[in-house]
Amino acid sequence: MGLTKRPMEKDDGNAFLVGLTTSGHIEDRRALGVLRHVIDRGIESRSVKQIWVWNQFVQPLLNRVATCEGGCGAISVHEKLNAPDNGGFCAYCEHKMDKDD
Ligand SMILES: [Zn+2]
Repeated sequence: MGLTKRPMEKDDGNAFLVGLTTSGHIEDRRALGVLRHVIDRGIESRSVKQIWVWNQFVQPLLNRVATCEGGCGAISVHEKLNAPDNGGFCAYCEHKMDKDD
């Protein structure tokens, strides 16, 4: 086990960022550009301008990311971003709960 410090985005986060480029949640072309830059070169390599764009368009989405309260484990980028609007549940678990009523 190496103890090399790596930015969080390198592992799980990176898959999420890749998902964000195609999920439609980010429409701003500059923001998509910064997103791809970070995926390729890491979050540390952002310029001041890129950090500004990131903070405007990407960070608010990252702040919303949640895992499903239903405990279903892995949920998609789309669901992770929509769960907060669904009371913390992904569409699948929400649907399941509706059926139980
Ligand atoms: Zn769920």
